Amino acid sequence: MPFTQLGLSSALLNAVTEAGYTTPSPIQSQAIPAILAGHDVLAAAQTGTGKTASFTLPILHKLSHIHHERNRPVRALILTPTRELAAQVGESVVKYGSHLHPRIKSDVVFGGVKINPQMMRLRGGVDVLTATPGRLLDLCQQNALKLDKVEILVLDEADRMLDMGFIKDIRRILALLPKKRQNLLFSATFSADIRKLTADLLHSPVKIEVAPENATADTIEQLVYKVNKGAKTALLTHLVKTNNWQQVLVFTSTKHGANKLTEKLNTAEISAAAIHGNKSQGARTSALAGFKQGNIRVLVATDVAARGIDIALLPHVVNFELPRSSSDYVHRIGRTGRAGQNGQAVSLVCSEEYQALRLVEKLIGNKIPSQEVSGFAAL
Ligand code: AMP
Repeated sequence: MPFTQLGLSSALLNAVTEAGYTTPSPIQSQAIPAILAGHDVLAAAQTGTGKTASFTLPILHKLSHIHHERNRPVRALILTPTRELAAQVGESVVKYGSHLHPRIKSDVVFGGVKINPQMMRLRGGVDVLTATPGRLLDLCQQNALKLDKVEILVLDEADRMLDMGFIKDIRRILALLPKKRQNLLFSATFSADIRKLTADLLHSPVKIEVAPENATADTIEQLVYKVNKGAKTALLTHLVKTNNWQQVLVFTSTKHGANKLTEKLNTAEISAAAIHGNKSQGARTSALAGFKQGNIRVLVATDVAARGIDIALLPHVVNFELPRSSSDYVHRIGRTGRAGQNGQAVSLVCSEEYQALRLVEKLIGNKIPSQEVSGFAAL
């Protein structure tokens, strides 16, 4: 089905064309009509499926077809687990809404930066607000914001929000919203906690599943290198140099590990930067910008920091260590092979991680092909 048949206004279709999209992704062709029709939606979708546009486009369509109240109360609220994801969703709202008249005002608020400028900006009112839960509550408590006119609520990456301990904040936010509203929930995985939240939150939702739970996109080539723990840095350096990889996202399990690896790569003359929770927002933003522009070849990240990073056509993801939870493996490699492009996910696995590797393989239902590089093989 082409974009033109989904029921979106021509202003939005123009923005879609400008973004270079020719056909809707599966989640878009299912979610957009359902959201336009006013249904609650429960979508099983990981990053890379086009899920952001699948809720942003119909929200903008709905809001632009009803007149604003003069004081511009928040009418659509999008909650995300991380600052990076909030910023990216906010950018999508601006991008897709760029041709709308009258203009839709949108803003993004998250923690880790000063609250006062956010309070000032919100004074003029905002139609679509993207927020992380903690900062949103702070702003509500300081009366910078009212949520009693919210018509549409989105929980994006709901599983990650619960993993990060946001359930109490989410419940507090829900209590501030009007009872009658449309709810959209996106999650890559469905734990018991998520199922409970969806049962409380959603009314007769349209259920959309674009990839089987915990399956990995088949455009991602996965590979394991068995290697001694102490040789991982040398192997990674070798792989980046000999394959001439230009844009690599590397996951480490600790912040310290991310810093150490970044230093070593820079010493080996591979430009690298780390992003993790101990880095300031400014440092994270500039690392990400440098990576997107190609000035930084290797971005080293912890799971939380990397969550939701959207870099179109990210070709290589490396697990420097396997994640503690197998479902994080699926999240991690979902950074590559986006929207139909091919990507490669490489895991450097030492003998201590063989058990974790078996669990990952059990979860994805496949054995991951394993290779050795001469001189770096595990003993
Ligand atoms: P998301 O899953 O929302 O993080 O989107 C993943 C990537 O796919 C983003 O870089 C989008 O710009 C891109 N994208 C979204 N929709 C489409 C589409 N219909 N065709 C091609 N690319 C898309």
